[in-house]
Amino acid sequence: MALYSEMVMDHFLHPRNVGVIEDADGVGEVGNAVCGDIMKIYLKIRDNVVTDVKFETFGCGSAIASSSMATELIKGKPLDDVLKLTNQAVVQALDGLPAHKLHCSVLAEEAIQAAVKDYCDKNGLPYNGGR
Ligand SMILES: [Zn+2]
Repeated sequence: MALYSEMVMDHFLHPRNVGVIEDADGVGEVGNAVCGDIMKIYLKIRDNVVTDVKFETFGCGSAIASSSMATELIKGKPLDDVLKLTNQAVVQALDGLPAHKLHCSVLAEEAIQAAVKDYCDKNGLPYNGGR
């Protein structure tokens, strides 16, 4: 029974970029009530580029795999690209998620947007994200 792709299982069992950045430039925390996932993303930003990213996710396997993949996708990217990251892109990179688990990937997108917004708010910069 292959409910989850190998890529999802790999990121769930070996999540990338887990942890905390103590002096993060932006922090975003979001949650969803459906499976009780809570996701926190820490960003280190230099010259509008994400130089480091870590996450803490308390949640289901899909949420952990989504945050892991999302951090891989935004690491080293300029903020403009980071804000364009959609949950569809995360799901694609994971080779798909079951339909009833798609909301877990939305969480990764929202947490990253919230972290960038936090960074912009702290630095008096215009925030061009959100949908
Ligand atoms: Zn979930």
